[in-house]
Amino acid sequence: MQLNFRGLPALVTGAGKGIGRDTVKALHALGAKVVAVSRTDADLVSLSEECPGIQTVCVDLGDWDATERALGNVGPVDLLVNNAAVVPLQPFLEVTKEVFDRTFSVNLRSLVQVSQIVARGMIHRGVPGSIVHVSSMVAHVTFPNLSVYSSTKGAISVFTRAMAAELGPYKIRVNSVNPTVVLTAMGQKVLTDPEIARKLKERHPLRKFAETEDVVNSILFLLSDRSASTSGSGILVDAGYLAS
Ligand code: NDP
Repeated sequence: MQLNFRGLPALVTGAGKGIGRDTVKALHALGAKVVAVSRTDADLVSLSEECPGIQTVCVDLGDWDATERALGNVGPVDLLVNNAAVVPLQPFLEVTKEVFDRTFSVNLRSLVQVSQIVARGMIHRGVPGSIVHVSSMVAHVTFPNLSVYSSTKGAISVFTRAMAAELGPYKIRVNSVNPTVVLTAMGQKVLTDPEIARKLKERHPLRKFAETEDVVNSILFLLSDRSASTSGSGILVDAGYLAS
């Protein structure tokens, strides 16, 4: 599948590491004009060296006012990838207000805020657009110690459908990708025990986790015209886990 994003303005959140970083690299290689948004400046500096010409924005997306200042006048964006997230590990009975608020602020509230900024711009300019939320298969299935994180991802499913319904008349498509474990920094934080990791992998029909590239390919498909009639959907990148 040959994709071409030549000249299209794109914005990726959580661009410093992992899936977001590889999404920026792929979009840049396919000709998009990318704005990379993340929290650690050193990551953005090294990403700029790898992808000359990208624009970078360093901001804590969990901070509404700072995000408004940083992205309120970001300029035209036709393709948006809401990817930034944090994953606290807490048993349900030990969930704290601070962790709850922080996780919902970064994983969900910033997705709403950045989508509003970008979608208002698309509507103002009268251009079609595509928004992809990086969710998780835990939107559909539970794991220990992930109740807060999973709830943010479950809520993203509802926002995906609600946004698709309200933004569809403006030719803006909204979808999600829902991966299983990907062994990025985040995946390694969640899966520290090699024996648990081995058993979990064996529960996947394909006997593997997802690769970052698999997730990026699904994001690119949903951003592109190849998915022109798809909106309000989620693509599972779960090595068959939910089928088992
Ligand atoms: P990583 O932790 O490897 O990378 C996340 C990136 O998001 C980092 O660059 C991080 O910056 C940035 N980020 C986090 N919080 C903020 C914030 N408040 N403001 C700005 N940037 C922020 O995660 P992954 O690449 O693994 O995950 C990407 C997405 O994929 C997430 O939405 C995650 O939930 C989802 N996902 C991941 C899975 C996995 O197993 N890895 C499985 C299923 C879904 P910094 O490091 O500077 O904080």
